[in-house]
Amino acid sequence: MVGAGLGGLATAIRLAAAGRRVLILEQNERVGGKLNLLQEAGYTFDTGPSLLTMPWVIEELFAAAGRRMADYLTLEQIEPTCRYHWLDGTTFNAWQRLPQLIQEVERLSPADVPGLFRFLAHTARIYDAVADTFLLKPFGGLRELVTPRLARDGLQIDALRSVDAAVRSFFRSPYLRQVFNRYATYNGSSPYRSPATFNVIAYIEFAEGGWYVRGGMYRLARALQHLAADLGVELRTGTPVARIAYQGGRVSGVHLASGERLPAAQVVVNADPSYAYRTLLPGQERIATRLARQETSCSGFVLFLGVNRVYAQLAHHNIFFSSDYPREFAAIFEKGVPAADPTVYVAATALTDPEHAPPGHMNLFVLVNAPTLGPRVHWEREAAAYRDLIVARLERMGLSDLGRHIVYERIWTPADIAARYNATGGAIYGWASNSPFAAFLRPPLRARGIDGLYFVGGGTHPGGGIPLVLLSGRAVAEYLAADTHCTPA
Ligand SMILES: Cc1cc2nc3c(=O)[nH]c(=O)nc-3n(C[C@H](O)[C@H](O)[C@H](O)COP(=O)(O)OP(=O)(O)OC[C@H]3O[C@@H](n4cnc5c(N)ncnc54)[C@H](O)[C@@H]3O)c2cc1C
Repeated sequence: MVGAGLGGLATAIRLAAAGRRVLILEQNERVGGKLNLLQEAGYTFDTGPSLLTMPWVIEELFAAAGRRMADYLTLEQIEPTCRYHWLDGTTFNAWQRLPQLIQEVERLSPADVPGLFRFLAHTARIYDAVADTFLLKPFGGLRELVTPRLARDGLQIDALRSVDAAVRSFFRSPYLRQVFNRYATYNGSSPYRSPATFNVIAYIEFAEGGWYVRGGMYRLARALQHLAADLGVELRTGTPVARIAYQGGRVSGVHLASGERLPAAQVVVNADPSYAYRTLLPGQERIATRLARQETSCSGFVLFLGVNRVYAQLAHHNIFFSSDYPREFAAIFEKGVPAADPTVYVAATALTDPEHAPPGHMNLFVLVNAPTLGPRVHWEREAAAYRDLIVARLERMGLSDLGRHIVYERIWTPADIAARYNATGGAIYGWASNSPFAAFLRPPLRARGIDGLYFVGGGTHPGGGIPLVLLSGRAVAEYLAADTHCTPA
């Protein structure tokens, strides 16, 4: 296994539970990949995911390994799932409990209550139609999709209009439209271009809730690491793989950066497939070139701020919306530049886990969607000014004198995300889903032309985000078992 991101850990766990011998090689000193940790000066920050959806996927992974999730980690639901803030002082709490949610919609825009019900019913039908084909089964490509079921469900999945067009048909309030459009960013895409099928993300969050791992999201990576160890998975951290060896159309092992060679009959790559084809698989330049032309998901510009006061208006998750959402996405996806008026996400986990900041302080994880690396942005020159713009924006939106209260600070640009995880361009979620055909362009779980080589994680199927990469692990383990008749290796 190349990489100990969540997809890699999930695959290793399933293979080990099925009696296979598994060795994970991770270049970094800690497992978890993009789900990672920063602890300094009395502050604890999750450096990647802060919100967990579809918690049953984790429970099912533990159950598949014959263990109880509760023995390894505790999940808790966060209410409200998110607090939204606008420049004019308007706020909206996305409560998961339906009566509270209805009251909140009524407070903001009474005319939109029936639209909320219609939206949830509509997106529930989408979930019903896509869950099996795209999420729960290994995705075998277009051919497997063209079935009688497609004819029945085709219209139901609402793939022919954008997320935004669908949201407009259900909600009148510009505030609610912005709230529901935001779910397209959960896979790093634009609501103005991604198909309305992705409104299913909103349904999943409202139906199943937004979750957190008690103690911090990084506990999930640790729990999977412990589970893998309990099942006998061998892990070597600080061990970059330099090349994947193959001969006669069959994988034969890996070469480490240290020069060591390790033979293997199967290699599962959890590293970004685009990076892998470019760097680890000499002779595969044609695929590397094709992948380089595909649109990646957005990246992120991150501030880790320790502040010496408490902002009472903050919930655990907060969004400070831009005043021009279409322009923000045009900047990121069409122009390839940071948005001048960005939407700012702020997580304050010390509100749930007080040990994440000293008493009377807060740990603010500040994330702004940003373009992946490209010719039009030079972060080494622009990062400091962009940081100032974001802090000034938060001050204007109510976090008064934020700049004066910052006593600890770190900045990560898309270049840092790219370098830490070998994520092409610093893409957070792999590929963008900005077209109805994007899913078909992802590299398959089973590499074409090299037997015994597999991909797992956000860069393959079904996509990025914690639950999807864990499901990717389930799918690739099923493929591997089918290909090798599950004989312990
Ligand atoms: C800032 C940020 C915020 C996010 N927010 C959320 C959120 O709120 N909710 C959510 O669900 N998701 C979120 N995500 C996305 C989520 O983190 C990812 O989709 C998921 O963690 C990716 O897992 P993966 O299995 O694809 O592997 P990755 O995390 O990409 O891990 C790949 C691993 O491979 C290793 N590797 C690469 N090359 C080599 C090599 N040559 N040799 C050895 N090892 C190698 C890397 O070091 C890494 O550990 C966020 C991500 C980021 C960065």
